[in-house]
Formats: sequence, structure tokens, C-alpha cells
Amino acid sequence: MKNNSILIFILLLLFSIRSYSQFVSRYPDIPRIDVHAHPHYILYTEGLGTKTSPEKPKLPTSPDYASIKNYLSMSDTLRTKYKIDLSMWINLGGDEGIDSVNLVSKNRMLTCISDYAPQRGLSYKPSDIAPCLKKGYAGYKMWFAPYQRRLQEGENGIKYLDDPANEPVLEAMENAGMICASVHIADPNGPHGNRGKWCADPVEFWRMQLGLERVLQRHPDLIVVAAHGSWLVCQDAQLDFLRYLFKTYPNFYVDLAATDQYYPLVSYDNLRSLFIEYSDRILFGTDIGRLKSEETGKLAERYAKSFRILETSDTVKGGFFGDSDIKGLNLPKEVLEKIYYRNALRIYPGLKGRMTGPGYRN
Ligand SMILES: [Zn+2]
Repeated sequence: MKNNSILIFILLLLFSIRSYSQFVSRYPDIPRIDVHAHPHYILYTEGLGTKTSPEKPKLPTSPDYASIKNYLSMSDTLRTKYKIDLSMWINLGGDEGIDSVNLVSKNRMLTCISDYAPQRGLSYKPSDIAPCLKKGYAGYKMWFAPYQRRLQEGENGIKYLDDPANEPVLEAMENAGMICASVHIADPNGPHGNRGKWCADPVEFWRMQLGLERVLQRHPDLIVVAAHGSWLVCQDAQLDFLRYLFKTYPNFYVDLAATDQYYPLVSYDNLRSLFIEYSDRILFGTDIGRLKSEETGKLAERYAKSFRILETSDTVKGGFFGDSDIKGLNLPKEVLEKIYYRNALRIYPGLKGRMTGPGYRN
């Protein structure tokens, strides 16, 4: 009998330690929008991370409805297990099914037109832009650089966002008010000795960044959201260039998709102060891909890690990707509110009417 009591005591203790270590958000009332989601694509195996063959210049544009339903059940897990209200996603693809995506997602996904291999020319014409906006598309997602990931050796194509061939479409977007949604510029370029496998050449890296800047100069009224912090998050000087872009171009924004795994590469204080200073221009995003039903628990855990890194000063093992130790940024509540939903509500057309999260306030 006595042994049983000790056993029960130990089990209760273990259970309470486990419960204590489980992250639960302090902000259940803040709705969150993931502006960088690919519910229809398996990342890195369907052409997103590999060279696309000439026969397959574009990813499939039809939606994956099972995956969308799995997003919804994952958000239920986030709410019950972590007290996280993941309200909406910006769906960067599946262009052909906008009405059915709205229906299946219960209006919790806003769809963008998309181009994942624009190196062979943009799929949409200038005359398509205003009608697409009218139909309810939230923006135009383009995947630009590094072009080496799309073009075969020796193959000619459009290399940078600022190529003159893109100008008529960018101009139509600027005039119509369609945003450049999570445009992919460059890949991570770390410090000397740790450049990384994706974009090891710093010269090429800066050509891509300056191409982006030329577009910002030419189109002051075009709202540009650069994906992945424009990948200007892997060196301290890159963070300073990001400051320069924010300060110089008031319509320039970044999303945070897949970035938290790289935070250990830069100075903690520099990164944290940038987030606070430019909290009006930073949007939450993950780069989540197609979701199978058996993966919803795991993906909820990855979301929780990303939120924990932004909300607490805990050291978290891995962000949305990766498994390195990342010290949380412990951002103030008003900063989190802007990054999680306020900035997105301001810039994506059609989003405001759909927000149903419990804490949504104007
Ligand atoms: Zn992506």
C-alpha cells in the first residue's frame, strides 16, 4: 500500500513537470494569420526547391481539399492544446479553385494567384490583374531567385525580379492595388565560413537584393511583401540593410516564413530591436506545405515552437524548421499583435471581412 502511494506520488510529479514544460500561449485572445502557406504543395519535391523541367514550367494550380481540411483540424489542436488562435492563412497557390477553397476552408484561406517558375515569363498578363483582384485574389505570389534553382545549366530565362519583362505586370499591380505577396528573393546567405547550401555566393545574393530594391524604387505604390524576411536575416549587416529598406520604402514588408531557424546566426539584441522598431512591417508566416491528417499534431507543435520563440524568452529546440536551440525574443504584446494580424489586415484586400477570431479588434 505504501509502495503504491509512492508510485502514485511519482507519477503525479512527472505529470505535473510534463504539464509545466508544455508551452501554452499567454495570448489566447490574439488571432494569428499565417501569410505564407502552401496547402497544395509538398515543398521541395514538386518543384519548389528543385529545378523545374521545361515540360513542367509551373506547379499544379488545382487545390488539395483534404490538405485544407487538415489545416482546420490542426488549428483546433492549436487552440485546445496551446491556447493559440490560428485564424487564417494566405494561400500562395491553387489558383484555379478560389471559390472551392473559400468553401472548404470556411473562408479561412485567402487565395493568391501564383507563379513558381516565372523565369520563363509570368503566367498572368497585365490585363489579368484587375479582374483577378475583383474576383477576390489577395495578391500575386512570385518565386524569383535564385534563378539557378529553376533554370537548367545554360538555359536562358528571367533571372531577377527587376527584369524589364516583368515591368508591365508589376505596373498593372501597382495601379490596381494588387500586392506582391510573399515574393521570394534570394536564399539564405550566412556569414563567411557558414554561407549555407542554398545561396553560397554573396555576390549573386546581393544582385538579387538590389534587383528587389530597383522594383521598390520604380513602383512606390506597389505593396511588396518579401518572403522569409527577404532572407536578410542571416548576418547582422543584412539586418541593417533590412532596416534601410524599411526606412526608405514605406510599402515594403517581410514575412517571417522559415526564418526562426536562422536567428542564432545574428546578434540577439539586434534582431529583437529590429522586430520592435519595424513591427509595422513584419508579418507572421511559416512556409507550411501540404498537410496529411496524420501530421496535424506534429505541425501544431511546429507552429507552437514558432509562437513560443516570438512570445517568450525560453530557449526552444528548433523553430518551424530545424532543431537548433533558439532563444525566444520575448516581444511585447503590442508588437505581437501587429506581427500576428494587424499588419496583414491592413494590406491584404478582403481579409478584414473574414476575421472571426475571438480577439479580433479594429
Ligand atoms: Zn514558401
